[in-house]
Amino acid sequence: MAKAISRIATEVDFNKDGKQVGFLRLPHSVHRSAYGWIPIPIACIRNGDGPRVLLMAGNHGDEYEGQVALSKLLRSLEPKAMHGRMIFLSSANFPAAMAGTRTSPIDDGNLNRSFPGDTNGGPTLQIANYIENVLLPQCDYVIDLHSGGSSLMYIPSGLVRRHSDAKQNARAVELLQAFGAPISYMTDAPQGEDRTLTAAAARQGVTHVGSELAGGGTLTRAALQTAESGLRRVLHVMGVLPDKPKEPPPTTKLMQVRGLDYYVYAPDSGFFEPLVELGDEVSEGQPAGMIHFPDTPWREPSLATFRRAGTVICKRMPCRAERGDCLFHLGTPYQA
Ligand SMILES: [Zn+2]
Repeated sequence: MAKAISRIATEVDFNKDGKQVGFLRLPHSVHRSAYGWIPIPIACIRNGDGPRVLLMAGNHGDEYEGQVALSKLLRSLEPKAMHGRMIFLSSANFPAAMAGTRTSPIDDGNLNRSFPGDTNGGPTLQIANYIENVLLPQCDYVIDLHSGGSSLMYIPSGLVRRHSDAKQNARAVELLQAFGAPISYMTDAPQGEDRTLTAAAARQGVTHVGSELAGGGTLTRAALQTAESGLRRVLHVMGVLPDKPKEPPPTTKLMQVRGLDYYVYAPDSGFFEPLVELGDEVSEGQPAGMIHFPDTPWREPSLATFRRAGTVICKRMPCRAERGDCLFHLGTPYQA
């Protein structure tokens, strides 16, 4: 028997004009519910032919800015105000979103490390498979709104993957400038990492734009406003929202994040004392943080240092840290 493309079904018809809301039904047969399904909220707004955009958040369940911004956009938009089609997947890893955790409480799956997914896998792999093999092939763009989640705090940032093609990079910069976050950065594809939505979008030939909007397991006013206004400006540049936003985008600082030397990790396990703050300019070799040892308080703390110069754009939030936890990462000015 041929393998099904997906076991997920939905009553939402992506080819129908108008505004539809409903659920993806992910079959989930468990003790509580023999014939049950997981209801992943989905919505579609379509007004004829035009650009086709997948709007995604909740790829990680504890990243709230994008999830709230997408729900507000969905409620406020009517088909006559747009061209083409928008598919809203506002809490993509829905079990994780309901639990307020990065990964799914059902299968411990990290959706953004699960692509291309597997229709015979657990819920997280099935969601990844549906996004990559059902939704992305019928889209031109995907907007994937992340934030720092529970463990990290970012200066609100727009984010794209660096392409080998200069024209694609120029388009990516245009989208970042429209999003208008305080910082926008371009990353290199991590070596051998092909399990992310960014990698899935590249495989499916879909233009991707993402974000890292604050985080810390909370929802900040400033990051939410960046997401809400930025979304409308990006959708205008993509040609979905014809009305030009009244406010021009705030100036964004274009940056890049390249090799591993942009990151600082905890050298030991203990209590993390940051020695710099978000937005600080740091130099190579500068002390970044100390790890104190509550079990041997007479011991001198371990020191983590920056391996290169740059701007601190991301910082660890919880004080408790284990060896290998990310404490900071830097950005440097963008070079095409
Ligand atoms: Zn994330």
